[in-house]
Amino acid sequence: MTAKSLIEISRKDPNRMYMFVVGGCGEFGMNLTIYAHKGYAYVVDAGLSFAETYEIGIDARIPDIAQIEAILGGKPTAFLITHGHEDHIGALPYLLEHWPAPVYIGPWAMELVKEKLNQLKNREPYAFHEVRAGDIINLPEMRVHWFHVPHSIPFCCSLMLEGGEHRVFHTGDFKMNGFLPYEKSLDIEALKTLAGKAPVLAVVSDSTNAHSPGHCPSELITRPALTEVVARAQGVTFLTTFSSNLWRLQNILLIACELGKKVFVFGTGMRRSLEIAQRLKMLGAEAACLVDEDGSKRVERKDLIVLCSGCQGEHKSGLKRILFDEIQFMEAREGDQVIFSSRVIPGNEKPLAKLMSMCAFKGISTISAREFPGIHVSGHAYSEDLKSVMEALQARYTIPVHGTFQQLNTNGELSNKPTVDVMNGQITALNADGVEVIAQHELHLQFVDSFSRRPMSYDTMRERHKIGDSGLAILSGFIESEQIEIDMDFVGMPFDNDTDMERMKAKLMAELKGLVRNIRNSNDFNYESFNDRARLTVRRTLSDRFIKKPVVISRVTLFEDTHDGLAD
Ligand SMILES: [Zn+2]
Repeated sequence: MTAKSLIEISRKDPNRMYMFVVGGCGEFGMNLTIYAHKGYAYVVDAGLSFAETYEIGIDARIPDIAQIEAILGGKPTAFLITHGHEDHIGALPYLLEHWPAPVYIGPWAMELVKEKLNQLKNREPYAFHEVRAGDIINLPEMRVHWFHVPHSIPFCCSLMLEGGEHRVFHTGDFKMNGFLPYEKSLDIEALKTLAGKAPVLAVVSDSTNAHSPGHCPSELITRPALTEVVARAQGVTFLTTFSSNLWRLQNILLIACELGKKVFVFGTGMRRSLEIAQRLKMLGAEAACLVDEDGSKRVERKDLIVLCSGCQGEHKSGLKRILFDEIQFMEAREGDQVIFSSRVIPGNEKPLAKLMSMCAFKGISTISAREFPGIHVSGHAYSEDLKSVMEALQARYTIPVHGTFQQLNTNGELSNKPTVDVMNGQITALNADGVEVIAQHELHLQFVDSFSRRPMSYDTMRERHKIGDSGLAILSGFIESEQIEIDMDFVGMPFDNDTDMERMKAKLMAELKGLVRNIRNSNDFNYESFNDRARLTVRRTLSDRFIKKPVVISRVTLFEDTHDGLAD
C-alpha cells in the first residue's frame, strides 16, 4: 500500500469492500477486524489475547492503537460487537479512550464492557446502542443486520455487513444447536432468506472447531452427564466452568433444583454473570436454589454445590483458594468432589495438574471432561455447522478467521467456494470480480499491566521482562576531585552470599575508578559520558559473571563537571 491511508483508499475506490484483519488469525484471541467502505471504517469486535506466561506482570495483549489509527488514517466510525467474550470485547475499553465512536452491542456484552470501564475509572459518556438479533442498523455507507446465533454466552449475533452491493457475513463465534428453551437454535431458513436478498460476497467464518466432525451438540447434552455426577456426591460438589457461560450455570441451577440441592456461588466472575442474568430477567424458578454464605453453612455437605472459578487452574481462582485452605468459611475435605466442566485451554495443563494433584492429596475425587466428555460442550461450530452456513449463504468467497493457521486451513477446506487466506496485518480488497491483497503490515502490540490495567508499550514490557529475567544494578553517589563515593545496589542477581556480593562491589569499584582516570585524561568528563560508560562497564562485568546482561542504572553526580546544567 502507498502512504495513503485505508480510509482514504476506500473513499476513492467505492467499488470494493476493504477488510483489515488486526487480530485473531493464527492465534487464540484478539479478534478484531476492520471493514472499510467508501471512506468509513467499522471495527467488528475488539478482543484481547491473554498474556504469555513469560510476560511478567502482564494480563493481556491488545493491538497498538496508535499504529492502527495511522494505518486507517483516522478514527473508525463505529464499533460493532458480536458478543461478550474477552477475546471479542477485552480491548474495547482501551480503544474507546482513543476512538470514542458509537458502540453497537448486545445487552450482555454491554453490561460487561460498562463494568470494565468502571474498573478503569473511566466515566466518559460513550455512546452505547443496544442491539438485538433481528435489528438492522443503518450507518454511513454500511448497513448491518444482526442475526441470532447460539454460542456459550447469551445475546450472540453474526453480522451481515452491507456496504452497497458488497455483502459480507461475519459469523463471529457460533454454533447451530441452541440451549432450548433459553437460547434458540440457528434458524437456517432465516439465514437463507437473508442471504437470498442479494448475492453475498464473502463469509468470514469462525474456524475454532473446523476439525471436529458433525454438528456441535447443544448445551442440553451436558444435563444428563452433569446430573449423574452431581447426584452421586458424598460430600460437597465443587463445580468449576467458564464464568461467562450462563447456559452452563443455568444448567447447574436446574440440576440442583431437580436434585433438591443448593448452590453457593463463590467467585466474582460467576456472581457477575448471574447478576446480569437476573437484571436481564433471564433466570426463572431455578434461581431459588441459590444460597448465600450463611445459607451454605446450613446445608448438608452432600447437598451443597459450590460454583467457583478455577477451571483453568488460575492462580487466584476460588477453587484454588479453597483447596489451599485460604477461605475460612469454606473447606474442601475428603469425600468431596471437584467437577471441571470445561475444556483445557492450551498452555493451562500444568496449573490444572497442580490443582488436581492437590485434590488427590486431600482425598477429593476429580471429574473432568477428559474421562467424562458429556460434562462439557463447546460453543463453536463443528465442520457440519460451518458447511451448513456456507451452503445457506452461497457466498462468493470463504474467509476463515478466528483460529490457528491449522484451524483456518481446515475451515477453508470445508468450503466449495474460493477461499481467501488472511492473516493479521493484512488488508484485502474484495468485490465480485476478484480479491487483492493491498498491504501486509507488521502489527505491534500493547501489554495490559495486571494491577493498574493500563496498557504499556512493547519497549516498557521488554524492560520489565529484562529486569525480571536478568536483574537490576543501580549506581548512585558523587565524584568530587579525588573523592569517589559510589553506592551499588543489586536486585535479583544470584550472588552466592553477601561476601560474594561485596567482592563484586570491590571489583566494580576498582573498574569505575579506572574509568574516572581514563575519562579525565580524555577531557570528556561530564555527567552523561561518565554514567553511560559506567553503565556499560558494570553491565559487562556482571554479565561475565552471570552470563545474562542485567539492566544497569547509573546516576552518579560529578561536582567538577563543567558542562551546562549537568553538574547538579
Ligand atoms: Zn466467544
